[in-house]
Amino acid sequence: MDNLQYDKSIKRVSDSYLCTNCGACQVICPKDAIDFVSTSIGRIYADVSNKCINCGLCQKVCPSLNDTLTAKDADNELLGHISSLRVGKALDKEIFYNSQSGGACTALLKFLFDTKKIDGALVCRMDYGKDVPEVKPILIESADELFQSQKSKYAPVPTLGVLKNKIKEFSSLAIVGIGCQIEGLVGLEEFAKDFKGKILCRLGLICEKTLCSTIQDVYVSFLPSPSPKKIIWKCKYATFLNPQHQYQSAPLVVEDEQGYHITMPNSVRFILKDMFTAPRCRICRDKLNLNADIVLGDPWQMSNIDWVNGESLVIGRTERGESIIEEAISAKYIQLSPRPIEELVKGQTILQRRKQVQKYSAAYGCLKPTIDSFLLKPELVENDNPTEKEVQSAKKDLLDFQVSERLSKEEIIKNALKKIKSDKLKRTLIYRAIRKIVRIILRK
Ligand SMILES: Cc1cc2nc3c(=O)[nH]c(=O)nc-3n(C[C@H](O)[C@H](O)[C@H](O)COP(=O)(O)OP(=O)(O)OC[C@H]3O[C@@H](n4cnc5c(N)ncnc54)[C@H](O)[C@@H]3O)c2cc1C
Repeated sequence: MDNLQYDKSIKRVSDSYLCTNCGACQVICPKDAIDFVSTSIGRIYADVSNKCINCGLCQKVCPSLNDTLTAKDADNELLGHISSLRVGKALDKEIFYNSQSGGACTALLKFLFDTKKIDGALVCRMDYGKDVPEVKPILIESADELFQSQKSKYAPVPTLGVLKNKIKEFSSLAIVGIGCQIEGLVGLEEFAKDFKGKILCRLGLICEKTLCSTIQDVYVSFLPSPSPKKIIWKCKYATFLNPQHQYQSAPLVVEDEQGYHITMPNSVRFILKDMFTAPRCRICRDKLNLNADIVLGDPWQMSNIDWVNGESLVIGRTERGESIIEEAISAKYIQLSPRPIEELVKGQTILQRRKQVQKYSAAYGCLKPTIDSFLLKPELVENDNPTEKEVQSAKKDLLDFQVSERLSKEEIIKNALKKIKSDKLKRTLIYRAIRKIVRIILRK
């Protein structure tokens, strides 16, 4: 039993830090009572207005209240069912060079548009209307609109919300989304009548986490004028700025109206990631997008990869996903070669991920209120319980997030800049110390 006597609205999910901002509740709400709001750190959650009639529909489609992840025939609950595992690239050069990984996601969408299998696709774009950009979902109607939506945006976005009232205008759609968004879609396909038979393909992205959107304010604060024209979260072609910046270690690039560029190494994102990771991402079991028809990701740690230009990892999960992949290969939209599943387990650090989920699920109860189903699940443990020390450190991360979320945006940015400075200094000192030790050893 859950430890709350809440009404039937989605508020209990938001209050328990469990809203994934997928947007499914907003789509199904018959009274338009749900909107998405942001906290100072940029965690986005569903807010319920007094138009709510307590019908409970929002709870039926919420990924945090309905377990859609129980893959019946899966060997490993974090891997899910895998029909095929391949790695490769989009064959259209424009798509390939403009992509995040190898462009397979966009090439598959183009194939679906060109063959008239879909008349719409749900994707995401950066919106530069404000001082600090926002990631916005967009329903596109032709392959010509794909180019602008390429590349990953590692910030939260209530994607499914744009389907509200709009889905009626389409007969067949492809939806691109991270695990939680696709979980919300599963709920809508089951409970929203407008969705019945409309979704041709769920294109799922692998996702370790999204970073709360105030991280973009931190990046933008490095610009002389606060009006970015572009933020590229991982720019695989920043080689014009530094020849060492290629796909594997792609830096963040921020560009202002005057063409002034800031390039930040990947390490800056690593320094800030803990500070900007919301609790829900830490206990997510859906890194590999278990409900997707086709999963797209990066081929991390795999052998024989083009680490300069990038490649896509492509998992076929369902029959319909598999046939779309095969047809796109035959029609020369993508070129893929098969890989063993062991490479996926290693490269996506599935065993470590499992440990992380266990540790943070065991700690999650320190946030009040909580929803019991997200506390440590016995089937995830298998005699491998996290230690007390691990749970304590996970609790600290969750509580630190809660504290920093109560600060003002300005204070959060100041703390982040301080952290970048002190971590860089620490790294330099460690590097110098190692160099000194190596020299002493060599002298001996
Ligand atoms: C938040 C996030 C975390 C990720 N974490 C990992 C990871 O840990 N490991 C890994 O292997 N891969 C991860 N990926 C996937 C990877 O970054 C690429 O998106 C994937 O390999 C597809 O690349 P591509 O070149 O085929 O796609 P592209 O041709 O570049 O197209 C990307 C597609 O994704 C859509 N998209 C971008 N951002 C979002 C978003 N936030 N929500 C919904 N749709 C979006 C775009 O609109 C576009 O349709 C992550 C992606 C995201 C968005």
